[in-house]
Amino acid sequence: MLDIDVVIIGAGAAGLMCAAHAGARGRRVLVIDHANKAGKKILMSGGGNCNFTNLYTEPANFLSQNKHFCKSALARYTQWDFIALVNKHQVPHHEKKLGQLFCDNKSIDILRMLLAECAAVNAEVKLDTAVETIEKVEGGYALQTSAGPMRCQSLVIATGGLSIPSMGATGFGYQVARQFGHTLLPTRAGLVPFTITDQLKDLCNELSGTSVDCLVSCNGKSFRENILFTHRGLSGPAILQISSYWLPGQAVEINLMPDLDAAQWLAQQRNDRPNAELRTLLGEVFTKKMATLIADQWFESKPIKQYTHAELERIATQLSAWQVVPAGTEGYRTAEVTLGGVDTKEVSSKTMESLKSPGLYFIGEVLDVTGHLGGFNFQWAWASGHAAAQFV
Ligand SMILES: Cc1cc2nc3c(=O)[nH]c(=O)nc-3n(C[C@H](O)[C@H](O)[C@H](O)COP(=O)(O)OP(=O)(O)OC[C@H]3O[C@@H](n4cnc5c(N)ncnc54)[C@H](O)[C@@H]3O)c2cc1C
Repeated sequence: MLDIDVVIIGAGAAGLMCAAHAGARGRRVLVIDHANKAGKKILMSGGGNCNFTNLYTEPANFLSQNKHFCKSALARYTQWDFIALVNKHQVPHHEKKLGQLFCDNKSIDILRMLLAECAAVNAEVKLDTAVETIEKVEGGYALQTSAGPMRCQSLVIATGGLSIPSMGATGFGYQVARQFGHTLLPTRAGLVPFTITDQLKDLCNELSGTSVDCLVSCNGKSFRENILFTHRGLSGPAILQISSYWLPGQAVEINLMPDLDAAQWLAQQRNDRPNAELRTLLGEVFTKKMATLIADQWFESKPIKQYTHAELERIATQLSAWQVVPAGTEGYRTAEVTLGGVDTKEVSSKTMESLKSPGLYFIGEVLDVTGHLGGFNFQWAWASGHAAAQFV
């Protein structure tokens, strides 16, 4: 039987980070993963260029029922620590926008860096290995795996969330949490496009591929970024961000003219150019196609002087506070993250150790900590992996 200090289940972002740091402390570490490749999500992240952290990472960028939980780990392993690691490995990178750091080349640079860090401290990564059973035993945990029985003092669950099942995502981490008496908070897809099935679907379809800078709000939270019309509904960064705050049945409010006071702008146009058609005026704000579609379909486009004040008010409201009720989301198939998960109230924010079962640790996305879009989810994986590594 293999007897080792630390077994980490999940060779993703958090698991590899934890392995490298625990190995650096002199712990004998084995990382096991059922997939045939480590870090598949790292490889597909950021459109292939891995948005590995964000310059402006703060606890406010994370959703959790316990908003204080992430603070300690994020403070002890910051974006600057990860940037130092990236620089040590000479991974070329750049800020794309809003503090989002991306690889100049491919995401594999980040994965290679993590695997090199693991190799440097003899932390072994074993792929194609399934865990069959886990049992608490004197001084640690006993595992039955497809590679044989194992024993370890510390067991780290780094199996991530449910998003992109085709990339190896499973509910395994939740199952282990349940086995050891943990509370699970309901999970749902986050950072995910909306589907639209009502009369708005035709407009989305016709505008498919058009992106517009908007202010999108729901449940007291707002994001200023692009929205993207798609054949199936709405996507784009602002929509992905707000999807994490949206609940089924609710309306999302979209301000299509965030830099203008729509009512004032319409009044001004009416005054300055009374004979101009609404679609022509909107064409100065939106693409010609979008202006024509919304002017015709929503407001029966005509010269602006022909609209009454009440009608102009209605137009202003529609443009600045457009209410969209999504039919749903694209779900885990395309979601970047899973909201909810292992309740952080039963996990130490200092060590990531279970408060229910000593020697058991949870890190990364399996926990009820979810970042905004923009590199925050990886920063949580690095920070929580690092935190656990100091104690396993
Ligand atoms: C398309 C896409 C793009 C993304 N882009 C970004 C981005 O640019 N920036 C960003 O910050 N975040 C991004 N994310 C989110 C980010 O990838 C995750 O938040 C992060 O990978 C979570 O790290 P983790 O280690 O907790 O889980 P993961 O990285 O998902 O790793 C979990 C590992 O556990 C393994 N595993 C699962 N079940 C088992 C089991 N039963 N037995 C053994 N092993 C198991 C999996 O194979 C996997 O290797 C993206 C996500 C997706 C889906």
